[in-house]
Amino acid sequence: MAAIELAGLRKTYPGGVTALDSVGLSIADGEFFALLGPSGCGKTTLLRTVAGLEAADGGAVRIGGEDVTALPPGRRDVAMVFQDYALFPHMTVSDNIAYPLRIKKVGGAERRAKAAETAGALGLGALLGRRPGELSGGQQQRVALARAMAVRPRAFLLDEPLSNLDARLRLEARTFLKRLQRELRVTCVFVTHDQAEALALADRIAVLEAGRVRQTGTPVEVFRRPANTFVASFIGSTPMNLLDGVVAEDGRVLVGGVPLPAGPHGLAAGERVTFAVRPEYVGLRGTPAPGALPGRVTVVEHLGSTRLVTLDGEAGPVRAVVDEDAPLPAGGTGWVVPRPERVLLYGAD
Ligand code: ADP
Ligand code: MG
Repeated sequence: MAAIELAGLRKTYPGGVTALDSVGLSIADGEFFALLGPSGCGKTTLLRTVAGLEAADGGAVRIGGEDVTALPPGRRDVAMVFQDYALFPHMTVSDNIAYPLRIKKVGGAERRAKAAETAGALGLGALLGRRPGELSGGQQQRVALARAMAVRPRAFLLDEPLSNLDARLRLEARTFLKRLQRELRVTCVFVTHDQAEALALADRIAVLEAGRVRQTGTPVEVFRRPANTFVASFIGSTPMNLLDGVVAEDGRVLVGGVPLPAGPHGLAAGERVTFAVRPEYVGLRGTPAPGALPGRVTVVEHLGSTRLVTLDGEAGPVRAVVDEDAPLPAGGTGWVVPRPERVLLYGAD
């Protein structure tokens, strides 16, 4: 097991795409660390750079205190699990799992024993003789994990390992992966574009945008205190309300002409800000009140135990999550009341 240190990593592909723009991260030994960001932000490139499958144009990779920047993949002692699992279709589960051991010239009997032991730990004991084509998506994913685990690497690098599973299986596999990592206490770098997955699994998350780390923090930190509007809008299961505002003399923020309390902030009167509040952290009333933004109800979406209500107001659309059986405003106009302690203010960024 090992800590991973990335310093000033840069990568520009031929054609001029900057995939990594001075990426620095410290991942602790035994940490479950998520790299989160939209498609194309450089997650796979970063993971491949750690694995040694991609050479950076600049910067350094240290694993367990050792500078591995110039070492080939085989000498970095980390295991990568790919999005499509990359199993060998003609080999049995046992041979797939044992393959990296064969590359390491481990003897046949020991190989089979280790493969069986790892398969057992992942609930694949009964499937050792099958081929990948005879397995479900979830089982294939476990075989890919078992193959990575069999060599007892210092760290696991997982590139969207759950993205090929259907929604339900994905939740199960997520819980399984978390339990496994807890038991093994092995450093895990997990790539995903799914913020819910990152929040659920990771000890810490780095949020990437266009090759740059925009914030690093625990799930609670990135959810409660997003460092900028990019992170604010990327994290959360319903889109954050981001409204143009201007700080008033009394410290409240004028949004669409309505003064809204925003908690202590220290910003000067007249300053232009983005007033941000999650739809989960606003109330919805049927009558006007101080600190309430009026709007016409335009869309109501059922989310199960809650409903997401979109209203059109002076300052643009505003969303509110309300209880499934809460009454909607009669007459089509509602008033959204942000909870001041949950309001975030951002200057120009
Ligand atoms: P992610 O995994 O976050 O979706 P990638 O690391 O795959 O992002 O890609 C980052 C950027 O680099 C994207 O704009 C992508 O198109 C580009 N890119 C990735 N691989 C190559 C390549 N081999 N050649 C040229 N451009 C690439
Ligand atoms: Mg990718």
